[in-house]
Amino acid sequence: MSHDQDASRSLSIVRHRLAQAEVKFNRTPESVCLLAVSKTKPIEDIRAVMAAGQRDFGENYLNEALGKIEQLAGQGCCWHFIGAIQSNKTRPLAENFDWVHCVDRLKIAQRLSDQRKDDDLLNICIQVNIDEEQSKAGVLPEETKALCLAVAQLPRLKLRGLMAIPRASESFEEQRDSCRRLRELFESIQRELPDMDTLSVGMSGDLEAAVAEGSTMVRVGTAIFGQRAPKIS
Ligand SMILES: *Cc1c(COP(=O)(O)O)cnc(C)c1O
Repeated sequence: MSHDQDASRSLSIVRHRLAQAEVKFNRTPESVCLLAVSKTKPIEDIRAVMAAGQRDFGENYLNEALGKIEQLAGQGCCWHFIGAIQSNKTRPLAENFDWVHCVDRLKIAQRLSDQRKDDDLLNICIQVNIDEEQSKAGVLPEETKALCLAVAQLPRLKLRGLMAIPRASESFEEQRDSCRRLRELFESIQRELPDMDTLSVGMSGDLEAAVAEGSTMVRVGTAIFGQRAPKIS
């Protein structure tokens, strides 16, 4: 079997999982956007899922992403940056991406707003360290509302919502518990910022738990493109 058939076949399995979860947890059909996380994967894999209609892609490594964005320019893709942001590398993010999901400091948001020149505003999610893990990026839950209120003031950004990477767990109930706390935080901030419409949570291993707790955007890599080789550098 060719590589292309693999990726498009896996994509349809993931779409089916997502549709099943929407039914099971009483979500509106097709209300959860599928972001295909293509980090470390070659452009051919992206083209294979584009042929099956996929247009939203998530990338973590800036230089790799910029190459892909350039090669696929004009083909209607929507590019989401989901990796760690270095404060001296905000300009290429502001200039080349449609979304940035991992903003956790006001300084980064200010730079992105200052550097956004496109007619469209840059869509932003605030990354929350929902399980308060030492190893993870993200703002702490109790500091999230203040950051959202400040980011919402910036002129060239559109604050869309929250993003999180819950603690890894095999247990559906544990996965769901992290997602529930994220949803409750999201809803409490939405009362002051009603334009927020995005809850970016759920990956290959926990997308059902995320959909159960109101995710509007799941970020799926491995289940579509297969295992990734460890990244060197
Ligand atoms: C890599 C990555 C994903 C995709 O994870 P999989 O387990 O491969 O589906 C999702 N979100 C972020 C932030 C990632 O870095």
